This record gives sequence, structure tokens and C-alpha cells, in this order.
Amino acid sequence: MSIYDKYETVIGLEVHAQLSTKSKAYASDSTEFGVLPNTNISPITLGHPGTLPKSNKRVIEYAVRLGLACKCNIREVNEYARKNYFYADLPKGYQITQDKTPICTGGFITIKQNDGSEKEINITRIHMEEDAGKSIHDIDPFDTLIDLNRAGVALVEIVSEPEMRSGEEAYKYLTEIRKLVRYLDICDGNMEEGSLRCDANVSVRLKGSKEFGRRNEVKNMNSIRNVQRAIEFEAKRQIEAIENGEEISQDTRGFDAVTGETYILRSKEMANDYRYFPEPDLQPVVVTESYISKVKSTLPPLPNELFKKYQTLGLSAYDAGVLTDSKEIALYFEAIIAKTKNTKSAANWLTVQIKSYLNDNAIHISDFKITPIRIAELVDFIDTGKVSHTMAIQKIFPKMMTELDKTPSQIAEENNWIQESDSGALNEFVKQAILKYPEKVLEYKNGKTSLLGLFMGEVMKLSKGKADPKMTTELVKEMLEK
Ligand code: ADP
Ligand code: MG
Repeated sequence: MSIYDKYETVIGLEVHAQLSTKSKAYASDSTEFGVLPNTNISPITLGHPGTLPKSNKRVIEYAVRLGLACKCNIREVNEYARKNYFYADLPKGYQITQDKTPICTGGFITIKQNDGSEKEINITRIHMEEDAGKSIHDIDPFDTLIDLNRAGVALVEIVSEPEMRSGEEAYKYLTEIRKLVRYLDICDGNMEEGSLRCDANVSVRLKGSKEFGRRNEVKNMNSIRNVQRAIEFEAKRQIEAIENGEEISQDTRGFDAVTGETYILRSKEMANDYRYFPEPDLQPVVVTESYISKVKSTLPPLPNELFKKYQTLGLSAYDAGVLTDSKEIALYFEAIIAKTKNTKSAANWLTVQIKSYLNDNAIHISDFKITPIRIAELVDFIDTGKVSHTMAIQKIFPKMMTELDKTPSQIAEENNWIQESDSGALNEFVKQAILKYPEKVLEYKNGKTSLLGLFMGEVMKLSKGKADPKMTTELVKEMLEK
């Protein structure tokens, strides 16, 4: 047993999601991304004396959406607090956040284990707060530049219980959160651009131990994969330190994506005392039961519910996963199966043919021209037996892209693609094919059954691709084995 096997990793994540509201959390400045630095900055954002914040209703709505989707308790009376610290990109000298009264508590995120089982990761709290500005260190060689466009942009922070046990579980948890905020349309979920950020709290303990070890908090990971890498490195580092008789000090660490290592940023002895106190400039926001039900009625179908639905419709976990990965794909699928009963075939068309078309052309499902109704028609048309699956893939589907106003059956008829399943005509083709290769017939009879393909190919050629493959196989075999 290696030293690493003696230990268990314990992980709790703090996830910040930047909300996609049009204006900031406590000011009406635009949140538009990519505009000139320091243009979306009103006196409120800059914290000028005499200005007063006001809370953005959308932020409450988005936080409630998230809370409902995670099955949290939603708080009725929401107070704001000031978290005081001095930093150049924080012009007010404090951040407006929630301290003792987070809007959501309880609730959970469900992750799927590799064996197919589910694990619920409990959520401690979700609270609303505002972002700071950006300090830019790499444009000017001497000075730090400050862009305050981001200052005051709305965030929710989602804090998990320390219930994850591996980097992989953290990866799955974050993937679920990203999927969820995208389904809910409250955040674009982009970790590379920083609209979703994650601090990972990591500790290790001997397996079987009930007490938690001392944790380190790792920051600066710009992808979900890097969160996993950082956790795995950190766990290993801590185990090695303990095995060397060292004590783990509770620090804040950064992650270097190039080396895959974490490094110390600051030690907790220097931990800030934020001196939280109730924000005197904002009234508490009251979230009523009727407001909550109103928000609930606008929730989209959620990925987990759709996943379960697709499994009860007989799809594999893999297919259900692919179909629910993104909301746009799921909604497209929903629209197909509203029109056809052949769920399995519909899933195949979407996860194989359509997806590879999207990949090959580097386009998004929203730019895919064929409507879900047409795909449903195609699925049903194939089921009539009038065209083979191969014919549908190779000929009809490509034609559907350009002839959007025609049904698959119209296209098949116009191009004379309706397949020969009338056994009289087929019989004739099969006979011709067999007569063409007398020596091959002997070889086949002597056991070289792989020659079946040759005869099949010949029949396909003779029928111009319209022979029903299943029937042809049967007929060819029958005649060869006579
Ligand atoms: P802080 O505000 O100092 O970061 P919190 O109590 O808010 O502290 O905890 C932050 C996160 O740390 C939570 O996600 C929690 O689950 C996690 N956590 C707490 N203790 C441990 C531990 N021993 N090992 C790993 N994670 C932990
Ligand atoms: Mg923390």
C-alpha cells in the first residue's frame, strides 16, 4: 500500500458566479463586457460621498432561481452586510455582501459517480454580493492599472459542505453547477473568462478518521480541469508533508497551470478581519412565498430531471448525459420527441448524425437549420421501411439541409430513393449478382462467408442503393446456401 492510499482527501468549494444581469448589483451601470476600461462607472460604483446603493431586483430573482433549482430554503428577510477591506480595485473600501442572512441555505447538487450511482453534495449557503474591479499587472511594466468596470457587478457565492472526496468529484460538482447556471440563464458559466470562479478548500486525513485535517484554500484556477489538477496536487503535497512529520499550516495558495503545482500566496495568520456589519444604506429585501412561486413557475426543465426522464424513456445513461449536457440540445431533443414516439432513434439522430454535423462545421445547435419537427418526420419515415437507415444518413439528411421546406418523404420520392422491398424485383437483382461471380459462389460455399459483402454490394449497385439491406442479406444468403 502506498502512503497515498492511507489518506482520504476532503474538499469544500466556494464558487462565485457572475450574474448576467444587465446592470450592476447596487447601481444602474451597464455590466457589458469588453467595453473601454472605466466607462461603466457611476459615482455609486466609485463610492463617492453622498451616493446611495439600491438593490437590483434581478439579482434577487436569479439567486432565487438558483436556490430553487438546488432545492434550498429561501430566506424571507435578506439583510446586506459590509465586508471591509482595503484594496485598490475596491473603491468603496468595502464590499456589499450577505453575512448572517444568506438568501439560500441547505439544498444540494447531485453528481453522478462512475458506477452510475448518485451522490448529493450539500450546499451550506448561497449569498448575493458584488464583484471588485480588476487590477491589471501585465500591461504596464511599472504600474498596476485598474479597471473598475467590473466593480459592483452582481455575484452569487455558492459554498459547499466539505463533502467531496477527490479532485474528480470536485470536477463533477463544478460541471453540474456550470450546467445549472446555464440552464437557468443566470450566468454564462465561463471559467476561462472568470464569470465562474472557484476556490478549493483541501485537506487530508487518515482513512477512517472522523476529524478533518487542516485545510488550505487554493485559488486562481481558470478551468474546471485545473481545479481538479490543483486539488490532486495539493492532496499529494499535504500527504507527503504529513508523512515527513511536518505540520500543515492553514494557508491560501495559488495554482500554476504550467507546472501543475500550488504555491503559497499568504498564510492565514495574516487573515483579514473584515469587520462585517449591517449595511446601513440598504433596506433588507423581503422575499415572499408568492414571489417564490412566481419565480418557480418560470424555471426551465432542469438537467437532472431531463436526465431521469430520458432514462425512463429507455435511453442509456450515456445518451441521457449527452442530451442534457447543454440546454439547447436538450430543448431540441424535447421538440423532436414531442412529435415522434421512437425516442431511441431520435436520440441517435441527435447524438450521432446531428452532433457530428455540428462538430464538423463548428456550429452551435442554434445555427442548425433543420427543425426538430423535420427530424421527427425523418425518424418516423425510416420506420415505415420505405428508406433504409443508410439511405437516410447518406442521401436524405444532407438534402434536408438545403430543402428545408420539404418533408423527408417528399425528398425521397422526388429523388426516387424509396427502397425496393418488393421481393420480386429484389430477387431478380440477387440472381444477377450471383450469376456474375460463379467462382466466388464456390468460394463462399467452401466457407469464405466474408464474400457476402461482395454480393450485397452488387445488389446495391444494381438497385441504385434502393435495396432494403435487411431483406437483401436474407435473400443473398438464402440463394447462396441453396
Ligand atoms: P472561510 O470563509 O474562511 O473560507 P468557510 O467556513 O466559509 O471559511 O469555509 C469555506 C469552505 O471550506 C467550505 O466550502 C467548507 O466546506 C470548506 N471546508 C471547511 N473545513 C474544511 C476542511 N477541513 N477540509 C476541506 N474543506 C473544508
Ligand atoms: Mg474561503
